[in-house]
Amino acid sequence: MSGAPAAGAALVWFRRDLRDFDHAALHAAAGSARTVFCAFVFDREILDPLASRTDRRVEFILASVLELDEALRARGGALIVRHGFARDEIPALAQALGVDEVHANHDYEPAAIARDDAVRDALGACGIAFNTHRDQVVFERAQVLTRAGTPFTVFTPYRRAWLARLVPADVAPHAVAWRPGLPALPPEVFRSRPPTLASLGFAPTNLRTLGIPTGMQGGARLLAAFRRRIDDYATARDYPAVDGTSHLSVHLRFGTVSIRALARYGHDTALRVGPGAQTWLSELIWRDFYAQLLWHFPRVVEHAFRPTLEALPFPNDPARIAAWCEGRTGYPLVDAGMRELNTTGFMHNRLRMVTASFLVKDLLVDWRIGERYFAARLIDYDLASNNGGWQWAASTGCDAQPWFRIFNPVTQSARFDPTGGYIRKWVPELAQLDDASLHAPWLCPAETLRAAGVTIGREYPAPLVDHAAARTAALALFGRAAKDAR
Ligand code: FAD
Repeated sequence: MSGAPAAGAALVWFRRDLRDFDHAALHAAAGSARTVFCAFVFDREILDPLASRTDRRVEFILASVLELDEALRARGGALIVRHGFARDEIPALAQALGVDEVHANHDYEPAAIARDDAVRDALGACGIAFNTHRDQVVFERAQVLTRAGTPFTVFTPYRRAWLARLVPADVAPHAVAWRPGLPALPPEVFRSRPPTLASLGFAPTNLRTLGIPTGMQGGARLLAAFRRRIDDYATARDYPAVDGTSHLSVHLRFGTVSIRALARYGHDTALRVGPGAQTWLSELIWRDFYAQLLWHFPRVVEHAFRPTLEALPFPNDPARIAAWCEGRTGYPLVDAGMRELNTTGFMHNRLRMVTASFLVKDLLVDWRIGERYFAARLIDYDLASNNGGWQWAASTGCDAQPWFRIFNPVTQSARFDPTGGYIRKWVPELAQLDDASLHAPWLCPAETLRAAGVTIGREYPAPLVDHAAARTAALALFGRAAKDAR
Protein backbone atom coordinates (compact mmCIF):
# COMPACT_ATOMS: atom_id res chain seq x y z
CA MET A 1 0.00 0.00 0.00
CA SER A 2 1.57 3.28 -0.98
CA GLY A 3 1.10 6.78 0.43
CA ALA A 4 -0.37 7.92 3.75
CA PRO A 5 -3.81 6.70 4.72
CA ALA A 6 -6.43 9.15 3.44
CA ALA A 7 -9.20 8.48 5.95
CA GLY A 8 -9.02 8.97 9.71
CA ALA A 9 -10.90 5.91 10.84
CA ALA A 10 -12.60 2.98 9.18
CA LEU A 11 -14.82 0.15 10.36
CA VAL A 12 -14.44 -3.35 8.92
CA TRP A 13 -17.71 -5.26 9.11
CA PHE A 14 -16.98 -9.02 9.18
CA ARG A 15 -19.70 -11.35 7.91
CA ARG A 16 -18.81 -14.62 6.18
CA ASP A 17 -15.06 -13.84 6.26
CA LEU A 18 -14.00 -14.68 9.82
CA ARG A 19 -10.24 -14.36 9.51
CA ASP A 20 -7.56 -11.71 10.01
CA PHE A 21 -5.33 -12.63 7.06
CA ASP A 22 -5.68 -12.38 3.27
CA HIS A 23 -8.88 -10.40 3.75
CA ALA A 24 -9.94 -7.93 1.05
CA ALA A 25 -11.95 -5.54 3.25
CA LEU A 26 -9.35 -5.47 6.02
CA HIS A 27 -6.59 -4.99 3.44
CA ALA A 28 -8.44 -2.03 1.88
CA ALA A 29 -9.30 -0.42 5.23
CA ALA A 30 -5.74 -0.79 6.50
CA GLY A 31 -4.52 0.85 3.33
CA SER A 32 -6.83 3.83 3.48
CA ALA A 33 -7.37 4.64 7.18
CA ARG A 34 -5.10 5.37 10.12
CA THR A 35 -7.39 3.64 12.60
CA VAL A 36 -9.33 0.47 11.81
CA PHE A 37 -12.14 -0.81 14.02
CA CYS A 38 -13.48 -4.31 13.51
CA ALA A 39 -17.03 -5.53 14.16
CA PHE A 40 -19.25 -8.58 13.79
CA VAL A 41 -23.02 -8.66 14.25
CA PHE A 42 -24.97 -11.78 15.19
CA ASP A 43 -27.74 -10.67 12.88
CA ARG A 44 -31.23 -11.24 14.28
CA GLU A 45 -32.61 -10.97 10.76
CA ILE A 46 -30.86 -14.31 10.08
CA LEU A 47 -30.91 -15.92 13.53
CA ASP A 48 -34.47 -15.19 14.69
CA PRO A 49 -36.20 -17.16 11.91
CA LEU A 50 -34.01 -20.29 12.37
CA ALA A 51 -36.35 -23.17 13.12
CA SER A 52 -34.15 -24.86 15.71
CA ARG A 53 -32.44 -23.38 18.75
CA THR A 54 -29.71 -25.99 18.44
CA ASP A 55 -27.85 -25.06 15.31
CA ARG A 56 -24.28 -26.18 14.62
CA ARG A 57 -23.69 -23.16 12.41
CA VAL A 58 -24.32 -20.72 15.23
CA GLU A 59 -21.92 -22.64 17.45
CA PHE A 60 -19.34 -22.77 14.64
CA ILE A 61 -19.67 -19.02 14.04
CA LEU A 62 -19.44 -18.19 17.74
CA ALA A 63 -16.25 -20.23 18.18
CA SER A 64 -14.77 -18.65 15.06
CA VAL A 65 -15.75 -15.13 16.13
CA LEU A 66 -14.13 -15.65 19.54
CA GLU A 67 -10.95 -16.89 17.85
CA LEU A 68 -10.96 -13.87 15.53
CA ASP A 69 -11.36 -11.55 18.53
CA GLU A 70 -8.38 -13.24 20.20
CA ALA A 71 -6.29 -12.86 17.05
CA LEU A 72 -7.15 -9.15 16.81
CA ARG A 73 -6.38 -8.70 20.53
CA ALA A 74 -2.96 -10.26 19.99
CA ARG A 75 -2.38 -7.46 17.49
CA GLY A 76 -3.51 -4.79 19.95
CA GLY A 77 -7.14 -4.42 18.86
CA ALA A 78 -10.39 -6.26 19.43
CA LEU A 79 -13.57 -7.33 17.68
CA ILE A 80 -16.72 -5.42 18.59
CA VAL A 81 -19.45 -8.07 18.76
CA ARG A 82 -23.11 -7.14 18.62
CA HIS A 83 -26.37 -9.11 18.72
CA GLY A 84 -29.09 -7.20 16.90
CA PHE A 85 -30.18 -6.19 13.42
CA ALA A 86 -27.11 -5.49 11.29
CA ARG A 87 -29.06 -2.94 9.22
CA ASP A 88 -29.35 -0.81 12.36
CA GLU A 89 -26.24 -1.84 14.30
CA ILE A 90 -23.65 -1.06 11.63
CA PRO A 91 -24.76 2.50 10.78
CA ALA A 92 -25.19 3.26 14.52
CA LEU A 93 -21.74 1.85 15.34
CA ALA A 94 -20.08 3.68 12.44
CA GLN A 95 -21.55 6.96 13.61
CA ALA A 96 -20.70 6.40 17.27
CA LEU A 97 -17.10 5.47 16.39
CA GLY A 98 -16.85 8.50 14.11
CA VAL A 99 -15.47 6.55 11.15
CA ASP A 100 -15.25 7.96 7.63
CA GLU A 101 -15.81 4.67 5.89
CA VAL A 102 -17.11 1.15 6.42
CA HIS A 103 -15.59 -1.78 4.53
CA ALA A 104 -17.14 -5.19 3.94
CA ASN A 105 -16.80 -8.06 1.47
CA HIS A 106 -19.38 -8.74 -1.25
CA ASP A 107 -22.21 -11.12 -0.65
CA TYR A 108 -24.22 -12.49 -3.60
CA GLU A 109 -27.39 -13.71 -1.89
CA PRO A 110 -30.45 -11.56 -2.67
CA ALA A 111 -31.32 -10.98 1.03
CA ALA A 112 -27.75 -9.96 1.83
CA ILE A 113 -27.65 -7.63 -1.18
CA ALA A 114 -30.88 -5.96 0.07
CA ARG A 115 -29.41 -5.64 3.58
CA ASP A 116 -26.20 -4.11 2.21
CA ASP A 117 -28.19 -1.64 0.09
CA ALA A 118 -30.08 -0.54 3.22
CA VAL A 119 -26.83 -0.16 5.17
CA ARG A 120 -25.24 1.78 2.29
CA ASP A 121 -28.22 4.18 2.25
CA ALA A 122 -28.16 4.66 6.03
CA LEU A 123 -24.40 5.29 6.05
CA GLY A 124 -24.64 7.59 3.05
CA ALA A 125 -27.24 9.68 4.85
CA CYS A 126 -24.61 10.45 7.51
CA GLY A 127 -21.80 11.02 5.03
CA ILE A 128 -20.05 7.70 5.66
CA ALA A 129 -18.81 5.72 2.66
CA PHE A 130 -19.60 2.01 2.32
CA ASN A 131 -16.86 0.27 0.35
CA THR A 132 -17.30 -3.37 -0.58
CA HIS A 133 -14.82 -5.83 -2.05
CA ARG A 134 -14.53 -9.17 -3.83
CA ASP A 135 -13.33 -11.76 -1.35
CA GLN A 136 -15.68 -14.73 -1.14
CA VAL A 137 -14.91 -16.11 -4.61
CA VAL A 138 -12.04 -15.88 -7.08
CA PHE A 139 -14.15 -14.42 -9.91
CA GLU A 140 -17.47 -12.79 -9.22
CA ARG A 141 -20.55 -11.37 -10.89
CA ALA A 142 -19.78 -10.63 -14.56
CA GLN A 143 -16.02 -11.23 -14.49
CA VAL A 144 -16.25 -14.47 -16.47
CA LEU A 145 -18.66 -14.16 -19.39
CA THR A 146 -19.18 -15.86 -22.74
CA ARG A 147 -17.81 -14.23 -25.88
CA ALA A 148 -21.29 -12.80 -26.44
CA GLY A 149 -21.05 -11.09 -23.05
CA THR A 150 -23.71 -13.28 -21.46
CA PRO A 151 -23.41 -15.33 -18.27
CA PHE A 152 -22.29 -18.94 -18.57
CA THR A 153 -25.04 -21.38 -17.70
CA VAL A 154 -23.10 -24.58 -18.41
CA PHE A 155 -20.18 -25.50 -16.18
CA THR A 156 -17.57 -26.96 -18.58
CA PRO A 157 -17.18 -23.87 -20.79
CA TYR A 158 -17.33 -21.68 -17.66
CA ARG A 159 -14.47 -23.68 -16.16
CA ARG A 160 -12.45 -23.32 -19.37
CA ALA A 161 -13.00 -19.55 -19.44
CA TRP A 162 -12.28 -19.27 -15.69
CA LEU A 163 -8.92 -21.05 -16.11
CA ALA A 164 -8.02 -19.05 -19.21
CA ARG A 165 -8.67 -15.78 -17.40
CA LEU A 166 -6.73 -16.63 -14.24
CA VAL A 167 -3.49 -14.72 -13.66
CA PRO A 168 -1.40 -14.85 -10.47
CA ALA A 169 -2.77 -11.48 -9.30
CA ASP A 170 -6.29 -12.98 -9.07
CA VAL A 171 -5.21 -15.34 -6.32
CA ALA A 172 -2.45 -13.23 -4.74
CA PRO A 173 -2.97 -12.73 -1.00
CA HIS A 174 -4.58 -9.49 0.17
CA ALA A 175 -1.97 -9.03 2.85
CA VAL A 176 -2.94 -6.77 5.72
CA ALA A 177 -0.26 -4.17 6.42
CA TRP A 178 -0.33 -4.35 10.21
CA ARG A 179 1.07 -1.32 11.98
CA PRO A 180 0.78 -0.05 15.57
CA GLY A 181 -2.80 0.70 16.47
CA LEU A 182 -4.22 -1.48 13.71
CA PRO A 183 -6.67 -2.95 14.45
CA ALA A 184 -7.87 -0.33 16.87
CA LEU A 185 -9.01 -1.07 20.38
CA PRO A 186 -12.61 0.15 20.56
CA PRO A 187 -13.54 2.73 23.21
CA GLU A 188 -14.64 1.26 26.57
CA VAL A 189 -18.31 1.65 25.75
CA PHE A 190 -18.02 -0.79 22.85
CA ARG A 191 -16.19 -3.42 24.85
CA SER A 192 -18.60 -5.88 26.27
CA ARG A 193 -18.50 -9.45 27.49
CA PRO A 194 -18.21 -11.87 24.58
CA PRO A 195 -21.57 -13.48 23.80
CA THR A 196 -22.35 -17.04 24.73
CA LEU A 197 -24.61 -19.48 22.96
CA ALA A 198 -27.15 -18.95 25.74
CA SER A 199 -27.01 -15.15 25.44
CA LEU A 200 -27.68 -15.57 21.71
CA GLY A 201 -30.68 -17.75 22.52
CA PHE A 202 -29.16 -21.07 21.41
CA ALA A 203 -28.29 -24.37 23.10
CA PRO A 204 -25.12 -26.42 22.58
CA THR A 205 -25.03 -28.96 19.75
CA ASN A 206 -22.81 -31.98 19.16
CA LEU A 207 -20.29 -29.88 17.18
CA ARG A 208 -17.48 -30.54 19.64
CA THR A 209 -18.27 -34.22 20.13
CA LEU A 210 -18.12 -34.61 16.37
CA GLY A 211 -14.70 -32.97 16.43
CA ILE A 212 -15.54 -30.40 13.75
CA PRO A 213 -12.61 -27.96 13.91
CA THR A 214 -13.65 -24.31 14.01
CA GLY A 215 -12.02 -20.99 13.19
CA MET A 216 -8.84 -20.15 11.30
CA GLN A 217 -6.85 -22.76 13.17
CA GLY A 218 -9.41 -25.45 12.37
CA GLY A 219 -9.37 -24.51 8.67
CA ALA A 220 -5.57 -24.57 8.58
CA ARG A 221 -5.50 -27.98 10.27
CA LEU A 222 -7.95 -29.47 7.77
CA LEU A 223 -5.98 -28.06 4.85
CA ALA A 224 -2.70 -29.43 6.21
CA ALA A 225 -4.28 -32.89 6.51
CA PHE A 226 -5.81 -32.66 3.04
CA ARG A 227 -2.45 -31.77 1.48
CA ARG A 228 -1.39 -35.33 2.27
CA ARG A 229 -4.43 -36.76 0.43
CA ILE A 230 -4.89 -34.42 -2.52
CA ASP A 231 -3.10 -36.66 -5.04
CA ASP A 232 -5.76 -39.33 -4.52
CA TYR A 233 -8.66 -36.88 -4.60
CA ALA A 234 -9.78 -37.58 -8.20
CA THR A 235 -10.70 -41.17 -7.34
CA ALA A 236 -11.15 -41.15 -3.54
CA ARG A 237 -13.62 -38.24 -3.54
CA ASP A 238 -16.47 -40.43 -4.81
CA TYR A 239 -16.31 -43.05 -2.06
CA PRO A 240 -18.10 -41.93 1.09
CA ALA A 241 -16.43 -44.57 3.26
CA VAL A 242 -13.03 -43.09 2.36
CA ASP A 243 -11.77 -39.85 3.85
CA GLY A 244 -11.09 -38.50 0.38
CA THR A 245 -12.28 -34.89 0.42
CA SER A 246 -11.09 -31.76 2.22
CA HIS A 247 -14.06 -31.05 4.56
CA LEU A 248 -13.31 -27.37 4.02
CA SER A 249 -16.83 -26.40 2.89
CA VAL A 250 -17.89 -25.00 6.27
CA HIS A 251 -14.64 -23.02 6.43
CA LEU A 252 -15.24 -21.66 2.95
CA ARG A 253 -18.78 -20.81 4.00
CA PHE A 254 -17.67 -18.72 6.95
CA GLY A 255 -14.36 -17.51 5.50
CA THR A 256 -12.05 -18.99 8.10
CA VAL A 257 -9.94 -20.00 5.09
CA SER A 258 -9.14 -17.82 2.08
CA ILE A 259 -10.51 -18.95 -1.29
CA ARG A 260 -7.56 -17.22 -2.96
CA ALA A 261 -5.09 -19.28 -0.95
CA LEU A 262 -6.98 -22.52 -1.70
CA ALA A 263 -7.29 -21.78 -5.42
CA ARG A 264 -3.60 -20.81 -5.57
CA TYR A 265 -2.65 -24.04 -3.85
CA GLY A 266 -4.98 -26.10 -6.08
CA HIS A 267 -3.71 -24.42 -9.24
CA ASP A 268 0.00 -24.73 -8.40
CA THR A 269 -0.37 -28.32 -7.26
CA ALA A 270 -2.33 -29.20 -10.39
CA LEU A 271 0.51 -27.89 -12.55
CA ARG A 272 3.12 -29.85 -10.61
CA VAL A 273 1.34 -33.03 -9.67
CA GLY A 274 -1.77 -33.57 -11.73
CA PRO A 275 -5.23 -35.04 -11.61
CA GLY A 276 -6.02 -34.93 -7.87
CA ALA A 277 -5.43 -31.20 -7.56
CA GLN A 278 -6.93 -30.53 -10.98
CA THR A 279 -10.20 -32.15 -9.97
CA TRP A 280 -10.19 -30.35 -6.62
CA LEU A 281 -9.62 -27.00 -8.32
CA SER A 282 -12.60 -27.80 -10.55
CA GLU A 283 -14.74 -28.18 -7.43
CA LEU A 284 -13.65 -24.74 -6.25
CA ILE A 285 -14.61 -23.44 -9.71
CA TRP A 286 -18.07 -25.05 -9.30
CA ARG A 287 -18.41 -22.85 -6.21
CA ASP A 288 -17.63 -19.70 -8.23
CA PHE A 289 -19.95 -20.95 -10.99
CA TYR A 290 -22.95 -21.22 -8.68
CA ALA A 291 -22.18 -17.89 -6.98
CA GLN A 292 -22.20 -16.03 -10.32
CA LEU A 293 -25.31 -17.89 -11.36
CA LEU A 294 -27.18 -16.75 -8.26
CA TRP A 295 -26.02 -13.19 -8.84
CA HIS A 296 -27.15 -13.19 -12.49
CA PHE A 297 -30.36 -15.14 -11.90
CA PRO A 298 -31.62 -14.42 -8.37
CA ARG A 299 -34.99 -15.88 -9.37
CA VAL A 300 -33.49 -19.38 -8.94
CA VAL A 301 -33.96 -19.00 -5.18
CA GLU A 302 -37.67 -19.73 -5.66
CA HIS A 303 -37.96 -20.82 -9.27
CA ALA A 304 -36.63 -23.47 -11.62
CA PHE A 305 -33.74 -22.20 -13.72
CA ARG A 306 -35.43 -23.88 -16.68
CA PRO A 307 -38.86 -22.23 -16.84
CA THR A 308 -40.28 -25.21 -18.76
CA LEU A 309 -39.80 -27.34 -15.63
CA GLU A 310 -41.11 -24.75 -13.16
CA ALA A 311 -44.49 -26.24 -12.41
CA LEU A 312 -44.02 -30.00 -12.46
CA PRO A 313 -47.12 -31.57 -10.87
CA PHE A 314 -45.29 -33.37 -8.03
CA PRO A 315 -47.61 -35.26 -5.67
CA ASN A 316 -45.39 -34.30 -2.66
CA ASP A 317 -46.69 -37.17 -0.51
CA PRO A 318 -46.09 -36.16 3.16
CA ALA A 319 -45.41 -39.78 4.27
CA ARG A 320 -42.72 -40.16 1.63
CA ILE A 321 -41.18 -36.80 2.55
CA ALA A 322 -41.05 -37.78 6.23
CA ALA A 323 -39.44 -41.16 5.42
CA TRP A 324 -36.78 -39.45 3.29
CA CYS A 325 -36.03 -36.85 5.98
CA GLU A 326 -35.70 -39.49 8.67
CA GLY A 327 -33.60 -41.95 6.63
CA ARG A 328 -36.12 -44.79 6.43
CA THR A 329 -36.84 -45.13 2.72
CA GLY A 330 -35.71 -48.76 2.64
CA TYR A 331 -32.82 -47.89 0.30
CA PRO A 332 -29.72 -48.26 2.49
CA LEU A 333 -27.47 -45.78 0.69
CA VAL A 334 -30.16 -43.08 0.71
CA ASP A 335 -30.95 -43.72 4.37
CA ALA A 336 -27.25 -43.65 5.30
CA GLY A 337 -26.87 -40.24 3.65
CA MET A 338 -29.90 -38.74 5.39
CA ARG A 339 -28.83 -40.12 8.75
CA GLU A 340 -25.32 -38.69 8.30
CA LEU A 341 -26.90 -35.29 7.58
CA ASN A 342 -29.26 -35.47 10.56
CA THR A 343 -26.52 -36.54 12.96
CA THR A 344 -23.61 -34.39 11.80
CA GLY A 345 -24.89 -31.53 9.61
CA PHE A 346 -22.64 -32.81 6.82
CA MET A 347 -23.27 -35.12 3.90
CA HIS A 348 -20.75 -36.47 1.42
CA ASN A 349 -21.14 -34.97 -2.07
CA ARG A 350 -21.97 -38.31 -3.73
CA LEU A 351 -24.77 -38.75 -1.19
CA ARG A 352 -26.08 -35.22 -1.74
CA MET A 353 -26.52 -36.14 -5.41
CA VAL A 354 -28.06 -39.54 -4.69
CA THR A 355 -30.48 -38.41 -1.96
CA ALA A 356 -31.56 -35.34 -3.94
CA SER A 357 -32.18 -37.36 -7.08
CA PHE A 358 -34.08 -39.96 -5.03
CA LEU A 359 -36.37 -37.39 -3.42
CA VAL A 360 -37.27 -35.75 -6.71
CA LYS A 361 -37.21 -38.60 -9.20
CA ASP A 362 -38.09 -41.65 -7.11
CA LEU A 363 -40.41 -40.08 -4.54
CA LEU A 364 -41.72 -37.36 -6.88
CA VAL A 365 -41.23 -34.50 -4.44
CA ASP A 366 -40.59 -30.89 -5.47
CA TRP A 367 -36.85 -30.08 -5.28
CA ARG A 368 -37.63 -26.96 -3.20
CA ILE A 369 -38.77 -29.15 -0.28
CA GLY A 370 -35.49 -31.05 -0.21
CA GLU A 371 -33.48 -27.90 -0.77
CA ARG A 372 -35.04 -26.32 2.31
CA TYR A 373 -34.46 -29.43 4.39
CA PHE A 374 -30.75 -29.34 3.49
CA ALA A 375 -30.69 -25.57 4.11
CA ALA A 376 -31.91 -26.05 7.66
CA ARG A 377 -29.40 -28.78 8.48
CA LEU A 378 -26.18 -28.45 6.50
CA ILE A 379 -23.41 -26.84 8.52
CA ASP A 380 -21.87 -25.69 5.22
CA TYR A 381 -25.22 -24.49 3.86
CA ASP A 382 -24.60 -22.02 1.10
CA LEU A 383 -27.59 -20.73 -0.85
CA ALA A 384 -25.76 -20.62 -4.21
CA SER A 385 -24.19 -24.10 -4.02
CA ASN A 386 -27.19 -25.76 -2.39
CA ASN A 387 -29.68 -24.33 -4.84
CA GLY A 388 -27.33 -25.13 -7.72
CA GLY A 389 -26.83 -28.70 -6.49
CA TRP A 390 -30.54 -29.30 -5.99
CA GLN A 391 -31.57 -27.86 -9.33
CA TRP A 392 -28.83 -29.92 -10.99
CA ALA A 393 -30.10 -33.11 -9.34
CA ALA A 394 -33.71 -32.24 -10.15
CA SER A 395 -32.79 -31.41 -13.78
CA THR A 396 -34.47 -28.03 -13.42
CA GLY A 397 -31.14 -26.19 -13.30
CA CYS A 398 -27.93 -25.61 -15.21
CA ASP A 399 -26.96 -28.93 -16.58
CA ALA A 400 -25.82 -30.00 -20.01
CA GLN A 401 -27.72 -33.28 -19.46
CA PRO A 402 -31.46 -33.54 -20.09
CA TRP A 403 -33.95 -34.54 -17.42
CA PHE A 404 -33.81 -38.27 -18.01
CA ARG A 405 -30.66 -38.83 -15.95
CA ILE A 406 -31.94 -40.68 -12.88
CA PHE A 407 -29.58 -42.17 -10.30
CA ASN A 408 -30.23 -45.81 -9.47
CA PRO A 409 -29.82 -45.97 -5.67
CA VAL A 410 -28.82 -49.65 -5.74
CA THR A 411 -26.18 -49.47 -8.45
CA GLN A 412 -24.82 -46.23 -6.94
CA SER A 413 -24.54 -48.09 -3.66
CA ALA A 414 -22.73 -51.11 -5.14
CA ARG A 415 -20.39 -48.84 -7.09
CA PHE A 416 -19.48 -46.21 -4.52
CA ASP A 417 -19.82 -48.13 -1.25
CA PRO A 418 -18.78 -51.58 -2.51
CA THR A 419 -17.76 -52.97 0.87
CA GLY A 420 -20.55 -51.17 2.72
CA GLY A 421 -18.34 -49.21 5.12
CA TYR A 422 -20.53 -46.13 4.85
CA ILE A 423 -23.85 -47.97 5.04
CA ARG A 424 -22.74 -50.04 8.05
CA LYS A 425 -21.74 -46.87 9.88
CA TRP A 426 -25.07 -45.08 9.42
CA VAL A 427 -27.49 -47.99 9.09
CA PRO A 428 -26.13 -50.29 11.81
CA GLU A 429 -29.20 -52.53 11.76
CA LEU A 430 -27.87 -53.90 8.44
CA ALA A 431 -24.26 -54.22 9.60
CA GLN A 432 -24.29 -58.03 9.73
CA LEU A 433 -25.34 -58.44 6.11
CA ASP A 434 -22.62 -59.43 3.66
CA ASP A 435 -21.26 -56.85 1.20
CA ALA A 436 -23.31 -58.06 -1.75
CA SER A 437 -26.63 -58.16 0.14
CA LEU A 438 -26.27 -54.78 1.81
CA HIS A 439 -27.30 -52.64 -1.16
CA ALA A 440 -30.78 -54.14 -1.67
CA PRO A 441 -31.63 -56.13 1.48
CA TRP A 442 -35.23 -56.82 0.41
CA LEU A 443 -33.87 -59.04 -2.36
CA CYS A 444 -31.93 -61.27 0.07
CA PRO A 445 -32.99 -64.82 0.73
CA ALA A 446 -34.91 -65.15 4.01
CA GLU A 447 -32.16 -67.23 5.62
CA THR A 448 -29.48 -64.58 4.84
CA LEU A 449 -31.66 -61.93 6.47
CA ARG A 450 -32.40 -64.18 9.44
CA ALA A 451 -28.70 -64.91 9.97
CA ALA A 452 -27.99 -61.14 9.96
CA GLY A 453 -30.80 -60.47 12.45
CA VAL A 454 -32.90 -58.46 9.98
CA THR A 455 -36.57 -58.75 9.20
CA ILE A 456 -37.65 -56.41 6.43
CA GLY A 457 -40.44 -54.25 7.78
CA ARG A 458 -39.24 -54.70 11.38
CA GLU A 459 -35.53 -53.87 11.91
CA TYR A 460 -35.33 -52.15 8.52
CA PRO A 461 -38.16 -50.83 6.29
CA ALA A 462 -39.26 -52.32 3.00
CA PRO A 463 -38.41 -50.06 0.04
CA LEU A 464 -40.82 -47.13 -0.10
CA VAL A 465 -41.05 -47.38 -3.89
CA ASP A 466 -39.91 -49.75 -6.58
CA HIS A 467 -37.09 -47.89 -8.33
CA ALA A 468 -37.91 -49.18 -11.83
CA ALA A 469 -41.57 -48.17 -11.53
CA ALA A 470 -40.66 -44.84 -9.93
CA ARG A 471 -38.25 -44.14 -12.76
CA THR A 472 -40.97 -44.74 -15.33
CA ALA A 473 -43.34 -42.42 -13.44
CA ALA A 474 -40.68 -39.68 -13.23
CA LEU A 475 -39.87 -39.94 -16.93
CA ALA A 476 -43.57 -39.62 -17.73
CA LEU A 477 -44.01 -36.60 -15.44
CA PHE A 478 -40.96 -34.76 -16.78
CA GLY A 479 -41.78 -35.81 -20.35
CA ARG A 480 -45.32 -34.42 -20.15
CA ALA A 481 -44.05 -31.10 -18.74
CA ALA A 482 -41.40 -30.79 -21.45
CA LYS A 483 -43.99 -31.59 -24.15
CA ASP A 484 -46.56 -29.13 -22.77
CA ALA A 485 -43.90 -26.42 -22.78
CA ARG A 486 -43.14 -26.88 -26.48
P1 FAD B 1 -14.26 -31.05 -1.46
O1 FAD B 1 -14.59 -32.19 -2.33
O2 FAD B 1 -13.00 -31.07 -0.72
O3 FAD B 1 -14.31 -29.75 -2.40
C1 FAD B 1 -13.64 -28.53 -2.07
C2 FAD B 1 -14.62 -27.39 -2.05
O4 FAD B 1 -15.12 -27.16 -3.36
C3 FAD B 1 -15.82 -27.61 -1.17
O5 FAD B 1 -15.52 -27.35 0.18
C4 FAD B 1 -16.83 -26.64 -1.78
O6 FAD B 1 -16.61 -25.32 -1.34
C5 FAD B 1 -16.48 -26.70 -3.25
N1 FAD B 1 -17.36 -27.66 -3.93
C6 FAD B 1 -17.19 -28.98 -4.05
N2 FAD B 1 -18.18 -29.53 -4.79
C7 FAD B 1 -18.99 -28.50 -5.12
C8 FAD B 1 -20.20 -28.42 -5.87
N3 FAD B 1 -20.76 -29.49 -6.46
N4 FAD B 1 -20.79 -27.22 -5.99
C9 FAD B 1 -20.25 -26.11 -5.41
N5 FAD B 1 -19.10 -26.13 -4.71
C10 FAD B 1 -18.48 -27.31 -4.58
N6 FAD B 1 -21.72 -27.22 -0.99
C11 FAD B 1 -21.70 -26.26 -0.05
O7 FAD B 1 -20.63 -25.72 0.25
N7 FAD B 1 -22.85 -25.85 0.55
C12 FAD B 1 -24.06 -26.41 0.26
O8 FAD B 1 -25.09 -26.00 0.81
C13 FAD B 1 -24.10 -27.45 -0.70
N8 FAD B 1 -25.26 -28.09 -0.99
C14 FAD B 1 -25.27 -29.07 -1.95
C15 FAD B 1 -26.49 -29.69 -2.29
C16 FAD B 1 -26.54 -30.67 -3.27
C17 FAD B 1 -27.86 -31.32 -3.63
C18 FAD B 1 -25.35 -31.06 -3.92
C19 FAD B 1 -25.37 -32.13 -4.99
C20 FAD B 1 -24.14 -30.47 -3.59
C21 FAD B 1 -24.08 -29.47 -2.61
N9 FAD B 1 -22.86 -28.85 -2.25
C22 FAD B 1 -22.86 -27.84 -1.32
C23 FAD B 1 -21.60 -29.19 -2.93
C24 FAD B 1 -20.74 -30.30 -2.28
O9 FAD B 1 -21.53 -31.42 -1.98
C25 FAD B 1 -20.02 -29.83 -1.01
O10 FAD B 1 -19.36 -28.62 -1.25
C26 FAD B 1 -18.98 -30.85 -0.57
O11 FAD B 1 -19.59 -32.10 -0.31
C27 FAD B 1 -18.26 -30.36 0.68
O12 FAD B 1 -17.29 -31.28 1.09
P2 FAD B 1 -15.75 -30.93 1.05
O13 FAD B 1 -15.51 -29.60 1.64
O14 FAD B 1 -15.03 -32.09 1.63
O15 FAD B 1 -15.52 -30.81 -0.52
